[in-house]
Amino acid sequence: MRGMVLVRPGRPLEEREVPRPEPGPGQVLLRVRACGVCRTDLHVACGELPDPKLPLVLGHEVVGEVAALGPGAGRFRIGDRAGVPWLGWTCGVCEYCRSGRENLCDRPRFTGYHLDGGYAEYAVADERYCLALPPEYDDLHAAPLLCAGLIGYRSLVAAGPGERLGLYGFGAAAHIVLQLARHEGRRVFAFTREGDEEAQRFARDLGAEWAGHSGGPPPELLDAAIIFAPVGSLVPAALKAVRKGGRVVSGGIEMSDIPSFPYRVLWGERSVRSVANLTRKDGEEFMALAPRVPDRTEVEPFPLAEANQALERLRGGRLRGAAVLVP
Ligand SMILES: [Zn+2]
Ligand SMILES: [Zn+2]
Repeated sequence: MRGMVLVRPGRPLEEREVPRPEPGPGQVLLRVRACGVCRTDLHVACGELPDPKLPLVLGHEVVGEVAALGPGAGRFRIGDRAGVPWLGWTCGVCEYCRSGRENLCDRPRFTGYHLDGGYAEYAVADERYCLALPPEYDDLHAAPLLCAGLIGYRSLVAAGPGERLGLYGFGAAAHIVLQLARHEGRRVFAFTREGDEEAQRFARDLGAEWAGHSGGPPPELLDAAIIFAPVGSLVPAALKAVRKGGRVVSGGIEMSDIPSFPYRVLWGERSVRSVANLTRKDGEEFMALAPRVPDRTEVEPFPLAEANQALERLRGGRLRGAAVLVP
């Protein structure tokens, strides 16, 4: 089968003929129909996340059709559609796994990082960590739900119930979370790079009440803000944009260093936290919620062989919505 393979971090992916994986005990073999491209893939490809499996097939927004079952696998039938998210395996015994926080597992394995992912014609996955996908979405439009949507959902829950929500970095996750927030009756303020009028227009089209650049203040103080852009200076900027008691949530896996800032920026019971990974429960909740909103995903398809171009477009912020690879 063909796959786009990371041989060494910092180098472009190589298009290669690789053996089709065999499903092991409890695993399913999926024929990949679509695989979303996430900013985390960029961090892995650049070597910003330590110790990836090498060589590695990236991709953790995998929409596939079950093509074979490993020994003991019985959750899906041949021909079923299944989604493979970032959380690929957890230990089940650490204190986090035992307390409903498997997203913080001490010995996790992540898809497209420790395990081969979906930038290929076939992928294998542990059936227990696969997600059933809402039938309202075709393969292409379902792919971004599997990480951008899920992390957006977890970030929105972490942001609390406040009415005025700021979103910093208007890409795949933000465009999905904006629709969720509007569905809940919140008012959304979207922050983009300076001069990115295209992204600001996109945000307003989806229901943002205000869109502007992240260097300036919003027209009124916010109850909460979610940062999706990997830019540390946005942390103090977002803290200054929230009211007393406001929350700032960082949804990305990597971020440049956060510059120091005066204590008064945090004072007033403002808080900062990150959101890490996802639990299977998040996945089930979000997949039930998304079609009810209904949360429309905007995608830009690329042939599998153009994975490097898709990553470059993502790095440059030149995508409307989410990039999705189609084998
Ligand atoms: Zn992701
Ligand atoms: Zn664990």
